[in-house]
Amino acid sequence: MRAVAIDGPAGAGKSTVAKLVARRLGWLYLDTGAMYRAAGLKALRLGIAPGDRERIPAMIADTDVEIRFADGAQRVLLDGEDVTGLIRTPDVSVAASDVSAVPAVRLRMVELQRRIAAVHDVVMDGRDIGTYVLPDASCKVFLSASLEERTRRRVLDLEERGAVDVDQDAVRRDIEYRDYNDAHRALAPLAQAEDAFLVDTTGMTVDQVVEAVLRRAGA
Ligand code: C5P
Repeated sequence: MRAVAIDGPAGAGKSTVAKLVARRLGWLYLDTGAMYRAAGLKALRLGIAPGDRERIPAMIADTDVEIRFADGAQRVLLDGEDVTGLIRTPDVSVAASDVSAVPAVRLRMVELQRRIAAVHDVVMDGRDIGTYVLPDASCKVFLSASLEERTRRRVLDLEERGAVDVDQDAVRRDIEYRDYNDAHRALAPLAQAEDAFLVDTTGMTVDQVVEAVLRRAGA
């Protein structure tokens, strides 16, 4: 099957761009961050520190994360419960980053991601898609943008989802924390693949980025 791999730091616009690219290509869009978010949510609910390397492996062994696609939109099921609407909060973002550094979690999620990519043409976004999950992807893109721009986008995103009085400094700190964490973990850290095409999206419109990715994908 064919794949477009889109990686980059938090708030670089990956999911917005990946969704539109997938629509244009008629391929499936897979948001891999949602899987780590579901695992982070479970840890928070159970009162387990998401970075706890003793307890998280047992938790994940006893967890069922399932991805379903309905009308082109992705739903995430955690132990059979649709948690799609519950995983976009700042707390879950940080928990996802912590839990994703535990190798047992990554191995489970990567297996699921590869299984989906084996049967669908996909546009997949994440941190390690081009470097680790799908190293043979025909098109790899690394999206980046300045910290200020990414903070601004994340604040807008939270506001669009109904959040009020969003603390911009807290959002910036969360992004910095996650980027550092994601780039410094031992297994499959956030990194630009050697053969990935770098797009700095600061000052670019969504359409311009989508067109750049499609050109790169040969579409
Ligand atoms: O992309 P999103 O912000 O939803 O990802 C949430 C967290 O999940 C990231 O901060 C990162 O720690 C983790 N993640 C990952 N590998 C991926 C996708 C997300 O480690 N492929």
